[in-house]
Amino acid sequence: MKCNFHTHSTYCDGKEPVGDFVRKANELHYDELGFSSHAPVPFENEFGIREEMIPDYTQEIDNLKLQQKTLQLFYGLECDFIPGMTKPFSYYQEHFNLDYIIGGVHLVRPLNDDRIWFIDGSKREIYDTGLQQLFDMDVQKAVTRFWEQSFEMIETERFDIIAHFDKIKMHNQKRYFTEEETWYKKLVDHCIELIKRKGLIVEINTRGIYKGRCPDFYPSDYALDQISKLGIPMIISTDCHKSEELALGYEDALKKLKDFNVKYLMYLKDKKWEEFSIQ
Ligand SMILES: [Zn+2]
Ligand SMILES: [Zn+2]
Repeated sequence: MKCNFHTHSTYCDGKEPVGDFVRKANELHYDELGFSSHAPVPFENEFGIREEMIPDYTQEIDNLKLQQKTLQLFYGLECDFIPGMTKPFSYYQEHFNLDYIIGGVHLVRPLNDDRIWFIDGSKREIYDTGLQQLFDMDVQKAVTRFWEQSFEMIETERFDIIAHFDKIKMHNQKRYFTEEETWYKKLVDHCIELIKRKGLIVEINTRGIYKGRCPDFYPSDYALDQISKLGIPMIISTDCHKSEELALGYEDALKKLKDFNVKYLMYLKDKKWEEFSIQ
């Protein structure tokens, strides 16, 4: 089985229409391809799908489904969780009959503050400026807020997959903190505990590596080891924004998971997640 459930097309910040990804998935003999446009957020932005476009998005994919011989197509959303700002994920699930939801934190809101810190994207300067202006360079406080927001998302929202588990490390580049620090590891440990309790799927996300923004997969080895030992279900995601990125890093991620003794990955069968063997 070969699958990718984390795909961004021109309905959000992806660079190509959905049809291009479908063509590529067929060329590469994929079994399943899932689209995951960024869900709308309640402010002006260039990355999210506009809510009024979601029916077009699902309809276009439904039409493409009819033309497929073996490839299975699915649609979901990658929903951002910003406390007190974003709509409940269940709103989208119920209104648009989605196959699945990926939950992720890209925007960190300091406590008692309406401003947000954008930790994703191509610009390291935006990360640095936010750290300065919103957290007065208190790195531990800022990073802790990212993890607390992830905890709250896991505890309060209904979704299937947690996106890029430790994205907060991307623009850090070992400048402000290291992942070996005890306080940081405790936050990672707690997040894994919550994921296990809620039965979520963790993706191993290859995008940081192939974009040259981060030397490691999300999650890092320390977390992967625990995730594997706890038997938490996993998928491989390329988080592609162009069709040529569809399979980037897939084989390396597969090898990494085998090294960590992961035996199964998940795929969708009749709206339910099932395991398939990779050993
Ligand atoms: Zn994301
Ligand atoms: Zn994404």
